[in-house]
Amino acid sequence: MSTALQTLVMTADQLLEPQRFNDYCPNGLQVEGRAEVRRLVSGVTASQALIEAAVAAEADALFVHHGYFWRGEAPQLVGIKRRRLALLLQHDISLLAYHLPLDAHPRYGNNAQLALALGLLTDGPLDAAELSIPGSVGHLAEPMTAAAFASRVTERLGRTPLHIGDGAAMVHTVAWCTGAAQSLIERALAHGVDAYLTGEVSEQTVHWARESGMHFYAAGHHATERGGARAVGDYLAQSLGIEHLHIDIDNPV
Ligand SMILES: [Zn+2]
Repeated sequence: MSTALQTLVMTADQLLEPQRFNDYCPNGLQVEGRAEVRRLVSGVTASQALIEAAVAAEADALFVHHGYFWRGEAPQLVGIKRRRLALLLQHDISLLAYHLPLDAHPRYGNNAQLALALGLLTDGPLDAAELSIPGSVGHLAEPMTAAAFASRVTERLGRTPLHIGDGAAMVHTVAWCTGAAQSLIERALAHGVDAYLTGEVSEQTVHWARESGMHFYAAGHHATERGGARAVGDYLAQSLGIEHLHIDIDNPV
């Protein structure tokens, strides 16, 4: 079974609605490859290693969360950027990339998939007024100690989180935002939750956590953003009758 590239892009756009977001990169088809797609590969970041894996898997299209052409970056196609694009074009592989729309999708998005993986029940958005802030607030079905929640993160994401707080204290309400959303800790605080979980951490995040008494978890940018591309890849494969293979290129950050 195969589908037209146009249909694949249209189906992804219909699901993720990129027109609703003011993003830092173009969402949707970033690099055009062959017109027919039989096999889709998904991954977190369109790195050289992921493209090489997609070539080896004989992919027709690649679906990622972190693509190219970020606002403010140098536009020249030289060095690493030239090599990545050359490999895609040489093998006629399309690149579809969805950044904020993939973070935010209420079912297939990174934040929804992270909640599913960690057993978090969503009560609402981290910031109801701002669509470009895709995190959520919610709670654990059963309160548990902060240390037990850290163990759950380790077990389910395959990565030990950095935890700031007293491991023996109880955690029930949680705010979360995948990726590098440590600067949103104040928004989490405003909700009065017990804990805030994101991917990355900054020096000052630790002080905010200590001085507020709210638990903070940095569970990995990559580790917290593995769910969305895989879930949308599965959705597209099922909707269009194409093959889908998720390839995880490990990243310790
Ligand atoms: Zn990210």
